[in-house]
Amino acid sequence: MMLDFTYAMLRQLYEEILCSGYEIIPFLHFLTGETRPKAIILRHDVDNRIGNALKIAVLERDLGIRSSYYIRYRKHLFDSTVLKKIADLGHEIGYHYEDLTAARGDIRKAISRFEVNLARFRALYPVKTICMHGSPFSKWDNRLVWTEYDYHDFGIVGEPYFDIDYNKVLYLTDTGRRWDGVNVNVRDKVRTSYRYSLRSTCDIIDEFRRNSLPDRVMINIHPHSWHDGGLLWLRELVWQGAKNMVKYVLIRRSTPADL
Ligand SMILES: [Zn+2]
Repeated sequence: MMLDFTYAMLRQLYEEILCSGYEIIPFLHFLTGETRPKAIILRHDVDNRIGNALKIAVLERDLGIRSSYYIRYRKHLFDSTVLKKIADLGHEIGYHYEDLTAARGDIRKAISRFEVNLARFRALYPVKTICMHGSPFSKWDNRLVWTEYDYHDFGIVGEPYFDIDYNKVLYLTDTGRRWDGVNVNVRDKVRTSYRYSLRSTCDIIDEFRRNSLPDRVMINIHPHSWHDGGLLWLRELVWQGAKNMVKYVLIRRSTPADL
């Protein structure tokens, strides 16, 4: 059995999606480009571990997939070399903003922080879309800056929480390493009439196989939740193998009386 939330499982999901006749597109493309009747908007909220994001960006590139990477402005994430690499692989870069939380609820401070950080991203990439960070432990909802300001005034053409009708687009998110975490999610949820009971990535793959999902789906993959199961598996294999080898040697060296 394949472990869930591994790159191998992610690759299988992507391959199944492509086999089912969907095209996979970045959010900006969904807003401004031509799409096939069946399209997956693929989005990544990079909350942590920019290295994982790069690994997934490479994996996607191998499959000919382009997607959107929303990255928080944090020291450990804002690595210009890595960001440029992700963009060079053909992906869209966006700002995963959390300015209202950072400004402790002060909307004026938040918007100037937003502007400064957006400029930092734009020094590397022409950012056109943004996406809020859920800040589950914060009492401030980062979207509230848009009650007083309009992101279009900053050259932003879309924000997934505002510019998608989730009665026409099914939203699937892996928040908390599960696909049915809607009830435990604080802010990463949307108003929708769709009802699917999907827990594991295998459940989603099965739905694609059965062709039972809507024509439009947004999938949110958090890179920090996925790991290289192959390597862990291999390490375990080698470790187990080494242990067995030692046991074998010990047994061989032991006299029958010791056994
Ligand atoms: Zn986030």
